[in-house]
Amino acid sequence: MTLICIDPGHAVSTAGKRSPDGSLREYEFNRAVARRLAYHLERHGLKTMYSCDIDQEADASLDSRCKAANSTGADLFISIHANAFGDGWNAANGWEIYHYPGSVKGKPLADAIHARSKLLGLTDRGVKASDFTVIAKTIMPAVLIEHEFMTNLAAVEKLKAADWREKWAAADAKGILGYLGISWIEEKLHWAEKHLDSLHSKGLINSPEAHRNDLDGYMSKGQIFAMLDRIAK
Ligand SMILES: [Zn+2]
Repeated sequence: MTLICIDPGHAVSTAGKRSPDGSLREYEFNRAVARRLAYHLERHGLKTMYSCDIDQEADASLDSRCKAANSTGADLFISIHANAFGDGWNAANGWEIYHYPGSVKGKPLADAIHARSKLLGLTDRGVKASDFTVIAKTIMPAVLIEHEFMTNLAAVEKLKAADWREKWAAADAKGILGYLGISWIEEKLHWAEKHLDSLHSKGLINSPEAHRNDLDGYMSKGQIFAMLDRIAK
């Protein structure tokens, strides 16, 4: 079965790697997109893994991320990032995808993702070659995607927005699936999702994401009483 290694760049402890006002930490965006990318790939029958513990505070070294992919025999490696230019706010914006220079298999993978991502209508900085460690030391087709600039005021709002994170994850997934010759299947929403979102907007459910993939699961008496108590207030 095809195994995709998803590499969520950086971690809680990484210095820098944030918007100039500190309102967005890059690892937070990378992890959110990585999780949704894994979700979309898995619902198409692919196996996924992360290059490191996606919840850990310490940043995994670049070498250990490559080793995780190489030692498990992953078939593809996808590194998720947000870009930055300089230290303050500026006009640099858009997205770009990197493969290793001269990579015969990495470039078509980058091209396939590029073909789907450009439909999002953002400034297209194109497919580029670079010897970044994670695409240089991995032995399978590998790409690194810089989704937008944290140092651009308008772009950072997109990087923070759940709907944009979802758009990026879906576009990345569509590109990877296209590369593998697998057709994208639109997601069928569970019939109860609209109620979940409605209850969340009314403050009766705390974290809808914790329930979204488990809407046929059971609630404990404690959870039911807690919700009834919130309604009674
Ligand atoms: Zn990064």
